[in-house]
Amino acid sequence: AYEPIKRLARFQVNLNTKLVGVRLMYELLDMPEENQESSDKPNLVVSNGRIEFKKVEFDYGETKALNGLDMVANAGDVTALVGASGAGKSTVFSLIERFYEIDKGAILIDGQDIRDFNMESLRSNIAIVTQDTFLFDRTIRENILIGRPDATDEEVIEAAKNANAHEFIEKMEKGYDSNAGEGGTRLSGGQRQRLAIARAMLSNAPILLLDEATSALDAESENKVQTALARLMKGRTTLVIAHRLATVRDADTIHVLSHGKLLESGTHNQLYEMDGYYRHLCELQFTNTKEETQEDSSGA
Ligand code: ADP
Ligand code: MG
Repeated sequence: AYEPIKRLARFQVNLNTKLVGVRLMYELLDMPEENQESSDKPNLVVSNGRIEFKKVEFDYGETKALNGLDMVANAGDVTALVGASGAGKSTVFSLIERFYEIDKGAILIDGQDIRDFNMESLRSNIAIVTQDTFLFDRTIRENILIGRPDATDEEVIEAAKNANAHEFIEKMEKGYDSNAGEGGTRLSGGQRQRLAIARAMLSNAPILLLDEATSALDAESENKVQTALARLMKGRTTLVIAHRLATVRDADTIHVLSHGKLLESGTHNQLYEMDGYYRHLCELQFTNTKEETQEDSSGA
């Protein structure tokens, strides 16, 4: 029943990363802009990008989504979130962006409580790449510029190149002036993801929230998305909702969530050898990468 609200949440989270995105979104959704109280607060300055949840509790009315979550994403690391559907992973993202206010506890970035700063500065330090990135019914260029509205043409192209998007954009009839929205060329899932990556590249935010796609891409597109993501993650603090075995294997730390709490933490090998809930999840969740799973069970 909450699916439309959840979609709206993602939509906002996707667009909020820069003021122009925020403005455009409020215009589109006819929602009130950030309240005065928040905009009077100082700017959040992020130096390293360490994220910490301290005993965070949050519910969506009836449903308790986070139930005293304690967790850290270390600066510059890749931290993977795994857990069954409903464990609270997406809620973690929404709360970092302050789409909702927490009920108890605190969320800190570099030791600073995110409630003490204005939302615009918070969101400008966060780039988000999810599986259903919203594209405006505008040109490709404008859609990438949402990452940083004052960027030059050269910077847009550089971001697109790093995102492995330049090549397909160039092949479109009007190149960067082609329409990216529903009224324009139909873009594939992989192409949309690469535009989202280009946007995030351009924003150069120190914190990256990444929700990996669950829907399968063709091998070539998958490869291009993965190499672009690897470039994007470099030098940032990345929190990733992981759906691929390769991602959890490469993560510096994996946090296993269950019922809004931290159940287990460690590297893939550590958690796998513990033979607990994580291993059980691995066997259930990462079935789309069969070959790798087989390597695992043979003790590689
Ligand atoms: P995950 O991403 O791990 O699947 P979520 O963070 O989406 O988990 O959900 C955590 C809990 O909160 C679940 O019980 C889910 O049903 C509930 N929930 C998530 N979003 C909403 C919402 N917008 N309204 C009401 N309940 C929600
Ligand atoms: Mg989710």
